[in-house]
Amino acid sequence: MPNNIVILGAGVSGLTTAYLLSKDAANKVTVLAKHMPGDYDIEYASPWAGANYMPTGKEGSKHQEWERATWAPLKELTEKHPEAGIHFLNTVVYNRKKDQGSATGDWFSELVKPNPWYKDVVPNFKSIPDGKLDAEMDNAQEFTSVCINTAVYLPWLVGQCAKNGAVFKRAVLKHITEAANAHHSGQRADVVVNCTGLSSKTLGGVSDEKMYPARGQIVVVRNDAGPMCSTSGTDDGPDEAVYTMTRAVGGGTILGGSYQKHNWDPLPDPNLANRIMKRAIQVAPQLVKPGQGIEGLDIIRHGVGLRPLREGGPRVEKDEVGGVQIVHNYGHGGFGYQASFGCANEAVSLVKEVLQSKTRAKL
Ligand code: FAD
Repeated sequence: MPNNIVILGAGVSGLTTAYLLSKDAANKVTVLAKHMPGDYDIEYASPWAGANYMPTGKEGSKHQEWERATWAPLKELTEKHPEAGIHFLNTVVYNRKKDQGSATGDWFSELVKPNPWYKDVVPNFKSIPDGKLDAEMDNAQEFTSVCINTAVYLPWLVGQCAKNGAVFKRAVLKHITEAANAHHSGQRADVVVNCTGLSSKTLGGVSDEKMYPARGQIVVVRNDAGPMCSTSGTDDGPDEAVYTMTRAVGGGTILGGSYQKHNWDPLPDPNLANRIMKRAIQVAPQLVKPGQGIEGLDIIRHGVGLRPLREGGPRVEKDEVGGVQIVHNYGHGGFGYQASFGCANEAVSLVKEVLQSKTRAKL
């Protein structure tokens, strides 16, 4: 008997879970979603991400475990599948101790601390000597990371799943249990995987009050920033950030950003956009020609995305709602890509547990 699986959501969480599940021919996977790769919408976080691998999980947490487990698969994709739109980039992260306690400083506290856990995970990690730092920086380190062109990577994941036989359907569900009746075979699904991100706050049968957004505003430019960089904060406000990343295969450069908790505004703020561009040139002057300011930037688009944060961390666990077996995989905040394989692997193990208990019940 095939395993009928419905995955609700086609962001990086749903697609990575579908990719792993669809590798097993016994799994018949339907991916159901309101938004699919190619769409840009405030309810769909994944296309807005840079995206890069800059670990933020605290030592000893599940978050750390998931990020640690995701480096190797991302590295393998980068090396073996150039068509997935990921490349290696030299990366520099800067720490100003005065940023600790701010929204941005707390978000990046693990990333920028000297001697972080991920120094043994990423290649070429080294601390930058104090003598080479600007006076306002307390410490900095460099390493090799990856930058994912999400406009290429998300469709690549769709292609891999389709090649493995997964079927994609558009749908807007009011209640999670509706997904059980939407399998492409016409039969009832054995298990539904919930990957609806921030919408898990309002989706019937889930209604997770712990979900809230951290608004991220970005500017995408044609200019090249060279190495990726990120700092622990700015002097412009406690929830503003400065980072640059040049995407693989012609994806332009992302200039960020902000980390505005509980802010749902979908429209780019032009003043914030100006500050983002000015700060980016300060940390990466090579973006423009000598003597140029933001007029030297060639803008592709302004954007806003909502990071799907969850108090207490992501929810990757089994559940049962109205007789439907559910596996949740949502609430990945600003780390949905860099924890994607760790979380999806755990979701796959939980799906297997559900399927095994169903088989036992039938015997
Ligand atoms: P989403 O991408 O939001 O997908 C949710 C899916 O569920 C969609 O397909 C949606 O249509 C569907 N859905 C929801 N409700 C329903 C419904 N009722 N019926 C049908 N379908 C439904 N992460 C990193 O790892 N590295 C980065 O560098 C990085 N940078 C970021 C920069 C910005 C500006 C932002 C905003 C985020 C960034 N992130 C980054 C975070 C990352 O983008 C998110 O963690 C990730 O995209 C979440 O993916 P998801 O699949 O869980 O949710």
